[in-house]
Amino acid sequence: VRKTNFFNKYLIIFVIGIFPLAFQSCEDPLSVNVFPVSKDVQLGEELDSEIRNNPSEYPILENKELTQYLQGMVDEIIRSPLIEYEDEFAYEVRIINDDENVNAFAVPGGYIYVYTGLMKYLDREATMAGILAHEVAHAERRHATQRITTAYGAQFLAGLLLGENPSELEQVVSGILTNLALLQNSREDEYEADEYSFKYLQSTKWYPGAIMFFFDKVDQDRDAGFLEELLSTHPMPQDRINAVQQMIDNAGLPAPDESNLFSDRYEQYKSMLP
Ligand SMILES: [Zn+2]
Repeated sequence: VRKTNFFNKYLIIFVIGIFPLAFQSCEDPLSVNVFPVSKDVQLGEELDSEIRNNPSEYPILENKELTQYLQGMVDEIIRSPLIEYEDEFAYEVRIINDDENVNAFAVPGGYIYVYTGLMKYLDREATMAGILAHEVAHAERRHATQRITTAYGAQFLAGLLLGENPSELEQVVSGILTNLALLQNSREDEYEADEYSFKYLQSTKWYPGAIMFFFDKVDQDRDAGFLEELLSTHPMPQDRINAVQQMIDNAGLPAPDESNLFSDRYEQYKSMLP
């Protein structure tokens, strides 16, 4: 609940900011995003600032060398020709020093946060690359602002058309406050992030299917309590796993080896983590 408070605050600010644009949102409600890209940037900057100013919830690991390892990976991923917003978005990665949390997340505008719990859980650099590319995809595909558009675009239009009644506006805004589901990526967003992760990695040195090692491990540990948070924010049904396997099969890739998995280098890196 704590985590959602600052999101809500900014949802109000930014949803109010889209009023003039809502008039244009009569296209396919599933794909339209009424926010300009600059709103993703602005929203991301504000959320990142909230996160950095909340060290009890998000204890950022202030270690340039350790952070640079992940940053270098993100820098390589965003050189993919499929990346559209490398100039607009920050694409900055931060490590959150919390071994209990086996997770990673992104906010709009390309700020990516990786928990040490996840870093230690993985065994291969290529798998970390797959997860970073997945988070890049959430930002790049603008999932957060698209979800807000889908959920509230039509509602806002209706509210506006009903007249300039402030209490009506209040109701819509309080609707956002209670709709916590908005803060989570949808199942479709997860599929799309997996799909683009694979595509982005195809132009890198990493085996694009290495996120499967993570899925397999999670599947084995599914009933262990420490994955609860991960599974609540990133559902991993068998068909999501199958979808990635399908991409691997379709791409006709040879079996991976150390030359594109980099497990030795990754183990070395892990040993330097606090
Ligand atoms: Zn995701």
